[in-house]
Amino acid sequence: MSNEALRQELVELDKKYYIHPTSSLQDQQANGPAIIFDKAEGVHVYDLNGKKYLEGMASLWNVNIGYGRKELAEVAKEQLEKCAYVSSFTGFSNEPAIRLAAKIAEMTPGDLNGVFFTSGGSESNDSAYKLVRHYWKVKGKPEKTKIVARKRAYHGVASGSTSATGIESFHDFTTSLAPGFVHVDPDSPDAFRKLIEEEGADTIAAFLTEPIQGAGGVNLPKEGYLQEIRKICDEHDILFIADEVINGFGRTGKMFACEHYDIVPDVLLLAKGISSGYVQLGAVVLREKLHKELIELSSGVLMHGFTYSGHPTACAVGLKNIEIMENENMVENSKVMGDLLAEKLTELQKETDIVGEVRHLGLLGAVELVKDQETGERFAEKISAKVVLAARERGLILRNVVYWEKDTIVYSPPLCMTEDNVNEFVSIL
Ligand code: PLP
Repeated sequence: MSNEALRQELVELDKKYYIHPTSSLQDQQANGPAIIFDKAEGVHVYDLNGKKYLEGMASLWNVNIGYGRKELAEVAKEQLEKCAYVSSFTGFSNEPAIRLAAKIAEMTPGDLNGVFFTSGGSESNDSAYKLVRHYWKVKGKPEKTKIVARKRAYHGVASGSTSATGIESFHDFTTSLAPGFVHVDPDSPDAFRKLIEEEGADTIAAFLTEPIQGAGGVNLPKEGYLQEIRKICDEHDILFIADEVINGFGRTGKMFACEHYDIVPDVLLLAKGISSGYVQLGAVVLREKLHKELIELSSGVLMHGFTYSGHPTACAVGLKNIEIMENENMVENSKVMGDLLAEKLTELQKETDIVGEVRHLGLLGAVELVKDQETGERFAEKISAKVVLAARERGLILRNVVYWEKDTIVYSPPLCMTEDNVNEFVSIL
């Protein structure tokens, strides 16, 4: 069968049977799948006809070490053959899960060292909400239940994490949000102070934030913001949860974004880069004090766990992924290439009249599109979707954000990017 005949067959099956996540059902019926990917290597992905694309998003901000690493395939094969899966319920355990937990404890900031495994970011979020609420309950403060999150935040699509998300369209989709989530102005510590006064610290379990908001448009925190929030949390006995599902594992030029701001969260949420998307994996990491208190006070069974918590094959792949990231200095490369890419994107301001602010930390960045570079005024009819489409036709995959006033292109390529890849990215854009 020719590639084109195969593609046609798959398009028909896709339209008939495959409900795509976070996609337009009607566009799918009208146009078929946007791209059917076939293979991938380094920073590039290829469609069924062999067309090559630079993956400027590392797929979904997650393929941090890049595509096609045989070592991960080998370690997965070895583990699948030896012991593909065993449960971690009722005290059972396995070596890859134990070793990955120890590795995460060693590499995360401060005394973050109690690791609960999930299969992704939404599960990490919902698990964290339950764990912190349980923590306050066993501490004798069961009324401390509210999770305060920031507007523009993205935390996932499970029941709790949809409710914690601060992007309205995710709320519009569903008719019943989970109770106990409150959103605050994303830039003002004073707004959080005011909220504590109104709601009472004795009703608030935790403050939840991505250090750098990803899906909401790559929004860097204002100077001093996160440190101030950390202080307020300490003053009011409120836990600080950092969602580093995108930020973690080198994305921002440090292993974890909290390190840029010298803060240690009480709870750290991980997924995506933990396994570079080769397998489904996520984690919730607790500070020692929390972990110890839970051990002391939580006398019964911890009534929370997924079938795939501590999946041996996923954990073995996660370990190898981290080993590659460390051995090949990918975190440092993220900083160096991230700065170079942002510098070259900023130069585009001179070559075109629609490039506004370029902001980044490591290989997590955004380019604002503007009608007027002086004033930052936007086009009445937003153009970022057209730019993303035009870039895609020319072999560069990006995403855009049009929530609120934004007309923004976001990027998050694999951390193994080279200078040639940076040049390819910028010349296509
Ligand atoms: N938290 C953040 C910050 C995310 O960006 C995402 C996904 O993009 C999630 C949580 C949800 O992760 P998942 O899609 O793996 O459930």
